[in-house]
Amino acid sequence: MQTSSKRPYIVGITGGIGSGKTTVSRMFAELGAKVIDADVVSRDLLSPGSPALVEVEQYFGKPLFNNGVLDRAKLREIIFTNQVARAWLEQLLHPRIRAEIQRQIAEADNACILLSAPLLLESKGYDFVDVVLIVDAPEALQRSRTITRDNVTAEVVANIMAAQMAREDRLMSADIIIHNDADLAHLQRQVAALFQRFEEVARDRDKAG
Ligand code: ATP
Repeated sequence: MQTSSKRPYIVGITGGIGSGKTTVSRMFAELGAKVIDADVVSRDLLSPGSPALVEVEQYFGKPLFNNGVLDRAKLREIIFTNQVARAWLEQLLHPRIRAEIQRQIAEADNACILLSAPLLLESKGYDFVDVVLIVDAPEALQRSRTITRDNVTAEVVANIMAAQMAREDRLMSADIIIHNDADLAHLQRQVAALFQRFEEVARDRDKAG
């Protein structure tokens, strides 16, 4: 049941690899926003015993499972190379992901909800967000932060960046940009100012009815 705000302000957040989405989301959560992560929702939908997992097993067969546990790396590999399998999985998961996100929004009691979704800009399913927030960092910083965090090679990061939307295209879709090109205090200041603004918008909308 929502009490503090009848209609929360829904902020869609995205950005390239290593841009700082997780860090920004954590800062918003510390200030009192609810964070919904579409990746987590998607992962939970394929947890052991779930109806969607049964369908995945029927479609792909047992080789995708080790002792009944889904081999997610293998699944990723298949859908990366097989368009038909990818389309099938998307039609299975996307409506369920959207429904679960809507359910979590409906039961939240926060004035501000942050929806973190990797395909926020590519998918048509997120038209209910009020504002699109892009976390942006210079590509050299994206690379160095990801290499340090994940202990991977520059080549691995370059491949992922090449498969993602180009930075300029992403920035063109932004309503708001967080510039994560300095230290964490600089990031924190931007988040705090935005959180205050989002709460005000939610409050004003409530007052307007
Ligand atoms: P991914 O797309 O891979 O999930 P992400 O966009 O969620 O990445 P984060 O994990 O938040 O990015 O940040 C990448 C790394 O950079 C993390 O180790 C984080 O602690 C670090 N980092 C983020 N912002 C800053 C900053 N302003 N100063 C120093 N380190 C930072």
